[in-house]
Amino acid sequence: AEFIVGLTGGIGSGKTTVANLFAEQGIVLVDADIIAREVVAKDSDGLRQIGEKFGPQMLTPEGNLNRAALREQIFHHPEDREWLNALLHPMIRSRMLAQVKAANSPYVIMVVPLLFENGLDKLVNRTLVVDISPKLQLQRTIERDKVSKEQVQNIINSQSDRNSRLNKADDVIDNQGEITALQAQVLALHNKYLQLADPIHP
Ligand code: ATP
Repeated sequence: AEFIVGLTGGIGSGKTTVANLFAEQGIVLVDADIIAREVVAKDSDGLRQIGEKFGPQMLTPEGNLNRAALREQIFHHPEDREWLNALLHPMIRSRMLAQVKAANSPYVIMVVPLLFENGLDKLVNRTLVVDISPKLQLQRTIERDKVSKEQVQNIINSQSDRNSRLNKADDVIDNQGEITALQAQVLALHNKYLQLADPIHP
């Protein structure tokens, strides 16, 4: 595919729910979270480099990434986050673009929780924000993950705020209502994106 829609929104806003509705229309999804896990998977080049830089304690006995150890390392050495991002971000980008290229749908939806925060909006043709209030973000995430209000609030605070996200959006899906209210919004956008991806054909 040549046309990329970047789908984003805060924690618990409904990105996955919306992405699945586009998938039902035959649109290929490229998921940044999945790719971010792949680049540090067992036996990956990314994980090997992390082990060389920070030591063998970055790997579990099974050879997977020891996420707690890596978090600890970055907590004590904040500058190491830059190193890690410089290592992983280009890998993530090139894998995402490879998946876009291989996708056989008229356009693709790239699902990127931190689309604006990480500057990945530069990679897409159009940005789509799933919007809900912070109050609903808290409610739905607590319900889904059985986590504390404080934990979710900390994540909300670490992400782009609602208004700056909305200001950067080309398109917005309002997910304040019932899930059934999403279908019509997705269909309207799907038709719009088909037209934008291939303006010549009806
Ligand atoms: P995250 O950023 O944490 O990955 P997300 O943006 O992908 O989250 P979803 O997982 O799609 O969000 O939705 C969060 C939760 O809210 C899920 O449990 C989902 O089923 C539920 N949900 C989504 N939309 C609605 C809605 N309109 N009404 C009620 N519940 C909803």
